[in-house]
Amino acid sequence: MMPQYQVTVFPTAPDKARLLFSFVFLIVALGLGNACTRQADGEVSPNPSGVAAGQVSAVAERPDDDADESAITEPVDPVPDVDESLAFQVATGVTVIPDSRIAFVPNIGIIEGSESVLIVDTGLGTANGKRVLMLARKIADGRKLYLTTTHFHPEHNFGASAFEGSATLVLNEAQAIELREKGPDYIELFKTFGSQVEERLEGTTLVEPDRTYSGTMTLDLGGREVILREIPAHTRGDQLVYVPDQHLIFTGDIAETRFFPIMPDADSSAVRWIGVLQQLEALEPKIVVPGHGAVGSEEILSALREHIEFMRDRVQALVATGYDQQAITDLLVPAITAVYPNWDNQEFVPFEIAILYAEATGNAPQLPGF
Ligand SMILES: [Zn+2]
Repeated sequence: MMPQYQVTVFPTAPDKARLLFSFVFLIVALGLGNACTRQADGEVSPNPSGVAAGQVSAVAERPDDDADESAITEPVDPVPDVDESLAFQVATGVTVIPDSRIAFVPNIGIIEGSESVLIVDTGLGTANGKRVLMLARKIADGRKLYLTTTHFHPEHNFGASAFEGSATLVLNEAQAIELREKGPDYIELFKTFGSQVEERLEGTTLVEPDRTYSGTMTLDLGGREVILREIPAHTRGDQLVYVPDQHLIFTGDIAETRFFPIMPDADSSAVRWIGVLQQLEALEPKIVVPGHGAVGSEEILSALREHIEFMRDRVQALVATGYDQQAITDLLVPAITAVYPNWDNQEFVPFEIAILYAEATGNAPQLPGF
């Protein structure tokens, strides 16, 4: 899944001035970066103060999300299965099945109201979807089930077929269209990411929503309103799931703890992403459940926004100096990964640069290959 790009420095034969600038830039980048290098990024403690975490019998105590992260840094053929036995209550009536920092496993949510229960994201493929459904049924204990997905990507949405006939699927219209347009290609793309992923996507059917909305929709679960809102940036159909009474948000892949942002295709936008993160920060959430990585606080949002702004400023400065995308990539990738030594998804930094370069120059994005 590594993109194809050269790692040689300065393939465009820079002159001495460029070389000098580059070294100065690297020093500045590293210096600034070290000043803002994050270690924990606002991850919450196992029992965050102010969070009423009344246990239900179906879920366990919250685990240490990153306890086993050394095992997943560079998965060769990850086993992308949801482990519902790790589910914990992150707030009153809000359960999270943590991703345990395993590739192609998302954080999954189950939000309870007195009448209905909303499931957020499905896991990869039907078998994972069934695991999530089983836990949701146990928690719901007869209450009506809704399902929504934070965006169309396979580990978030491609288990939806398991819920057919059991849950009402609610999506924003943009996500439903994007799923229709890109879903089949993403099945094929993800099947190239290892035999375990391929196996779980075998026979996947994409599911049309029962209800769609545009902009914002309030879902009344009975004694609790949940707000669904379009926040396109990572994809065209990204969706916020906001539980106002707990000051809690599910962000999907708009925020991922200690991961570089993923801008996988030409529909991603760094400019919009910064704006979306500002919108989410303005909600002043106490609990942030990211698409991947440990549950935390608002600092997950600010750390990522500052990172994208930092990258934007560097790319703009290098464009102004006459660097092309390849030269910027060759220069910035090692510098930025040194600035954020404990962030994963390094293979997506060239994608981020491609989008930033396109936005800085007004050209169409030229993305590296997977
Ligand atoms: Zn995604």
